[in-house]
Order: sequence, then C-alpha cells, then structure tokens
Amino acid sequence: MRATVIHAPGDIRVEDVPEPELVEPTDAIIRTVATCVCGSDLWPYRGLEPVTEPHPMGHEYVGVVEEVGSEVRHVRPGQFVVGSFATSDNTCANCRNGWQSNCLHREFMSTCQAEYVRIPNAHGTLVATDEHPSDAFVPGLLAVSDVMGTGWWAALAAEVRPGSTAVVVGDGAVGLCGVIAAKELGAERIIAMSRHESRQKLALEFGATDVIAERGDEGIARIKDLTGGIGADSVLECVGTAEAMRQALHSARPGGNVGFVGVPHEVAVEGQELFFSHVGLRGGPAPVRRYLPDLIDRVLSGGIDPGKVFDLTLPLDQVAEGYRAMDERRAIKTLLTP
Ligand SMILES: [Zn+2]
Repeated sequence: MRATVIHAPGDIRVEDVPEPELVEPTDAIIRTVATCVCGSDLWPYRGLEPVTEPHPMGHEYVGVVEEVGSEVRHVRPGQFVVGSFATSDNTCANCRNGWQSNCLHREFMSTCQAEYVRIPNAHGTLVATDEHPSDAFVPGLLAVSDVMGTGWWAALAAEVRPGSTAVVVGDGAVGLCGVIAAKELGAERIIAMSRHESRQKLALEFGATDVIAERGDEGIARIKDLTGGIGADSVLECVGTAEAMRQALHSARPGGNVGFVGVPHEVAVEGQELFFSHVGLRGGPAPVRRYLPDLIDRVLSGGIDPGKVFDLTLPLDQVAEGYRAMDERRAIKTLLTP
C-alpha cells in the first residue's frame, strides 16, 4: 500500500510499504477514507523536532473497517468509523473518568497518512456512524477526529459558559474549531486573534464577533479595550509557542481560565506571575473520545461544519505539496484522499 514517510525535515514521500495486519485481538484495520496533515506534523517537517530515522506520519483519520480482532465487538467490518489520535480502551480508570487521551493503554496514532491503518484499542477508540455518511460530511467527521475535538476541549478547559467572553489565540485549524466550540457552548462575545484575511473570514463565519490582528502587548491592550479593561472570561490557547501562551495568560481576567491545547514548545510559565494573576490554567491532549458521539451528531445534523477548515484537498500521492502549502501558510489544512 502507499503510505507517507518523513525522511528528514522538508523531505516527505509516499512509499510502498506492507499493509498493516492485526497484531492484538483488540486491533482493527481500517481502509482510510480521508486523512490530513496536522499543524503538529509541521514540527518535524520544519526541523523543530528531530527526525532521527525515516518514519510514517499522520494521526487523523476516518475510514471503513476492513477487519477486526477477536475482542473487538463495538465495530464490525463495513462500518464507517471515526477515531481519535490517542487510542483508548475506554474501560480503564482514566477512561472511566473521561480522560481517554490518558488511557493506561494509550497508543498515539502515527501511521494514518496511508491507505490502510491499524487501530490499536479499536474496541474503545472507534465510533461507528449509523450509516455510511455522504461525501459532504467526510471533512467534518475527519475534523472531529482531532482539530474539532481539540478545539472543543480548549473551550471546555477554558470554561466557556453561556454569556461569557472568549478569546481564541491562534488561527490554525484548532483555533478556528475553538471558535465553533465557544459559539456552541454559548459564548456571547468571541474574539479571534488573526492577521490572515482568509482565516479572519472563516472565524467570523464560525461565530467570532471580533477579530484582532495585533499581537503581543498591543494585542493584549486591544483585548483589555474590548473587555472593560480586565480581560476575557475564557482564553483558548491553540498554538503552543511561548508568545502565544503569554498572550493567552495576559488576555484572561482575574478569575478567568486559559485552556491550552497547542503542544508546548519552549513554553515556560513564571510561577509568581501565574500566582498573582488568579488565572486558571488547564490543557493537554484532548480527550477526543469523550466528545466523539456528541460531535459526530453535531456534524451529521448540520449543526456545525468544521470541515470548512480544509481549504486544500489532494490525493495522497501529492502529500508533499500538502505539507508545503501548510508550511508556507498557503493552506489552513490539507485533506488527503488515498
Ligand atoms: Zn483506558
């Protein structure tokens, strides 16, 4: 089968590799219907994470079940399924508490930009739709497998409530999905921080009420202007850089909350600053599995359309161009069809 392999920063190839096989009785094999390139895939692509040897790429997927192990009973061959980038048995103590992305048997997906994918913990990870969805819903369901689930978690971690004011730091796919989540959770004012016209437009379409192009101290001052001088109730940090975290912490009001979901790279939080700010801070990899049934329903009922974050669709063979377009910010997010 064809699969995406990174050889070195900037060197992404599609290669012929053996098809995956069932290893554990809890595995499933799916035929990929759609997969995509994640903002976090750009860390190794840009050389900001080391690539010590060639390895496969991809952790977002929707597909059709081909084969299941003997202990997989919730899904069966032929069903259309959505999963998460972190697999979970959905039965351990952490899963029962709702923290499936910290499952005691967790495995992170890393081979999804391919024609077929082995899903460990398939029994607890995959959620099947009642019917095979029409093509129009595939991008939205694919978004649910990571960026929409992560944006949802950002909004919950930031404690967005009906009537509240939310700031979204980051205008990548997760940030834009964070706008959707803040809107769905009832935020009255949603301030998107973005300086790119196409992303500003999508943020407004998703429910942002204000857009701020300024960053740093200027950006913080603009947020204060819009929030009675104190800052926002909720801030969704969807980037993972030191600058974005600082922006987020200084944009929240005393008693407000920051949900941080961008994988931190060289982010340090100063203890005294946090102490005196009275800002709550919670983040981490999203427990997407907890939200899947709800988010799948919202997509299939037409309530939300996070699939709009995909502004470039390419055949898997052109994955290298998909990475390039995102790296150069010509595309928000690339959808790949095997
Ligand atoms: Zn578990």
